[in-house]
Amino acid sequence: MPRWGDVLQMNLADGPPANDGAPAMDGRIDRGSSLPVCSRRFRVSGALLLVTLVAWLAGCEQVERPNILLITVDTLRADSLDLDSALPGASATAASRTPRLASLAAQGTVFRRATAPMSLTRPSHFSILTGRYPREHGVVNNQLALPAEAQSVSRELQRAGYATAGFVAVSLLGRGSGAEHGFEHFVAPERALEWRASRVVDAASQWLDSLEGDAPFFAWVHLFDPHQPYDPPADARAGLDADLLRRHPVLGWQQFLEIAKASGGQISFEVARHAQALYAAEVSAVDREVGRLLEKVDARFGADETVVVFTADHGECFENGVYFEHSDCLFEGGVRVPLIVRYPKEFESGKQVDDLVSNADVAPTLLQAAGLEVPAEMTVPSLRDRAAAGTREVLLQNPFYPSSVLPARRHRQVVIRRVAGESVAPFESGAPRLGLVRGDWKYLRGERGDELYAVSVDAKPEVNVAYREREARSVMGAALDAALERHPAAAIESSELNPELLQSLRALGYVE
Ligand SMILES: [Zn+2]
Repeated sequence: MPRWGDVLQMNLADGPPANDGAPAMDGRIDRGSSLPVCSRRFRVSGALLLVTLVAWLAGCEQVERPNILLITVDTLRADSLDLDSALPGASATAASRTPRLASLAAQGTVFRRATAPMSLTRPSHFSILTGRYPREHGVVNNQLALPAEAQSVSRELQRAGYATAGFVAVSLLGRGSGAEHGFEHFVAPERALEWRASRVVDAASQWLDSLEGDAPFFAWVHLFDPHQPYDPPADARAGLDADLLRRHPVLGWQQFLEIAKASGGQISFEVARHAQALYAAEVSAVDREVGRLLEKVDARFGADETVVVFTADHGECFENGVYFEHSDCLFEGGVRVPLIVRYPKEFESGKQVDDLVSNADVAPTLLQAAGLEVPAEMTVPSLRDRAAAGTREVLLQNPFYPSSVLPARRHRQVVIRRVAGESVAPFESGAPRLGLVRGDWKYLRGERGDELYAVSVDAKPEVNVAYREREARSVMGAALDAALERHPAAAIESSELNPELLQSLRALGYVE
């Protein structure tokens, strides 16, 4: 709510100033309070004070700025959540593996075909924050940083008077990554690589408790637990196979490589299944912590007054030749992410939407919820605009690998050759691979040639039908070319890229 005392004190002497602490005509207000936006100006004299005050207030349109909580969980597959149990009509006896998120889903709108533009932490998070595809904001791997001048939802909300804070669980998104821009309070691990969700939620809760005054808040809370290594907290291990837990209490690349070396390059079905069980236990632990955070927010600020967006940067692949990772994976396991929006004033409770959307739609969606204009630099539509315009496509892209990560990736490929009886997919050197999801097709173009997959809401094995569905392949190829023209690539730093890739990118005109 506006602080009317402050408004009066500031403005009665000579009417509302245009740009020095009062609302601006474009709907932006300076940091400090949620103030009304005025459509007229008034000159005030002492004798007409009361009349003028009434008239001034009548000329003001009060802009309500809701609180905003953005939760991103790293490496969270959309199908790892069990969201249906709290919906109307669901069996009362159905137990959800993720009951707090099921409850959030019942209160909000669930987008069941949300797609990440790249299966990598920095590029995808910066798409969530900037409303641009990775090729546009330029952060196409985990080594590049988002430029300080990049437009983002955090910057825009800070400019509009929001108290902004970011709480991230991994140093990869810490200070220097660019994730910190636009947050006046920013907490990230510096000595440790990552923090568990409980620690991040504690930090966010303390900050929420410390808030005073009338400025609305924007809090971004990032949780990292489901990412490798799969190592759920002790109290989330109930129900796991005791013998497998004793033999493999933690599974990550180090353990997978040791297992494969000892067994002729094989990871058994049993170990692969156990890895997924550990992953699921980490997701359950995250569900509990998200529940704790939401309880805090709802009790202090009111469930209906806070916009809550829950999503992920990417998923994790356990199939199609890509196992226990995500960065090479443009299959649905890698790019399909959960997306829940709870804000009953604008998003229907208990609704499930099957239209194709992107997690990059979050930035413009949050600005619209705050009553702000979406900057032209945000090239991805908001969820509302996407629905209105019938925009049904999302660009995909794989990372441009830097030299520093190639040896480890090649080593894994040499050592781990089969998982659960299936061959591991050949390693990609980093040549640009671009794709488009449009309607019920996903088209990929890269060094392995064209790939075409039928995709839908329900997960199913993905089979490349590029050589059978020639017409669809041709249509999707043309659609990809058109989308690339609409979303041109930014110039990127070439110093962090591997030599083979650099040569390829130069040939394509991506870098000088
Ligand atoms: Zn990630």
